[in-house]
Amino acid sequence: MVKPCLLEYTREALVDLMAELGHKPFRAAQLQEWVWKHRTTDFEQMSNLPPALRAQLAERFSLRPLSVVEVSNSSTGGTRKFLSRMADGGHLVESVIIPAAEGKGGSRSDRITLCVSSQVGCAFGCKFCASGLLGLTRNLSASEILGQILAAEEISGTRVDNLVFMGMGEPLANIDNLLSALTLIMSPEGLNIGARHITISTSGNVPGLRRLAEFGKPLRLAVSLHGASDEVRSQVMPVNRKWPLGQLLPALEEWNRTGKHKITFEYILIEGVNAMLPEAAKLARISRRLNAKVNLIPYNTVEGLPWVRPSESHCRAFAKALSSAGIPVTMRYEKGHDINAACGQLRLKREGQGEG
Ligand code: SAH
Ligand code: SF4
Repeated sequence: MVKPCLLEYTREALVDLMAELGHKPFRAAQLQEWVWKHRTTDFEQMSNLPPALRAQLAERFSLRPLSVVEVSNSSTGGTRKFLSRMADGGHLVESVIIPAAEGKGGSRSDRITLCVSSQVGCAFGCKFCASGLLGLTRNLSASEILGQILAAEEISGTRVDNLVFMGMGEPLANIDNLLSALTLIMSPEGLNIGARHITISTSGNVPGLRRLAEFGKPLRLAVSLHGASDEVRSQVMPVNRKWPLGQLLPALEEWNRTGKHKITFEYILIEGVNAMLPEAAKLARISRRLNAKVNLIPYNTVEGLPWVRPSESHCRAFAKALSSAGIPVTMRYEKGHDINAACGQLRLKREGQGEG
């Protein structure tokens, strides 16, 4: 039996645990300091806890829900992907460490953005996405989401100060664990990362969006749009049949009523599918309605998929059509350096070796 991981325990949950184990409530704060301030990986190091408590904890709990099995460097930009094996059953997920871009923030190498996975695989099956090809194996627990952050810090020797949920999986389809993880990520007793440093990327899970809005934190929201009409969007994103634009856009308007930041629309440019100039005009209309900015992502080739990336001049023409319509637009070409080139298309080459 795999021991449950303590990472996802909030202060309140630890206080309850201390009561259950017959210890004073103030031990919860001490324990939490060891877990988050000192990032301790061994109960034996928790020198101000009574030995009996340390032994009880060690018998029942773990401090890390995953172990890193591979770290790979990208050829450009200092981006590093790592592969972690979950403590139970051995499923694998990828995460991506992205150093702060030079120029931005004064080329400080002490700042990193981490792209985390929220599920093993994904049930949404978007037609351009490597993660979707796998289908969904299971949700990640809050501890497994948190564990990726601690692993990234251990690999890089640097604190993670920006977090993007753009790895494998649909974060809003795992909303309970996402919210539990976010609570500890944002808590001063936990990782103390501010909501404005956290981006949730969603393919448009409408009930999940409502729950995230109710959570009431000024998180950043990225929405994978990839089609500005139901016809085009449904062609590449089956989720659009469940929550078509007629439901998604009002839910985003609702988000805007409480949200503090502009929504970002992610739009992959795919030759002959959604990259025609009339589509840019439709995208501009939607973006204006939602007061959103647009991040264009020239499609990155996924082995086994038929789609084609448009030429650079075509991508530029599409971007120009948006900016001429007054929509803030960004586009990045460099592979590996760009968050979207690095995350969002994580696919395990080693699945099958994951079990056991
Ligand atoms: N499920 C969430 C988060 C993970 S995907 C979502 O869909 O938003 C993160 C981003 O990477 C999404 O915008 C996704 O559409 C994009 N992405 C997936 N496959 C890609 C590919 N082959 N080329 C470029 N971007 C891709
Ligand atoms: Fe899932 Fe996002 Fe990939 Fe779609 S793009 S299959 S929602 S991970």
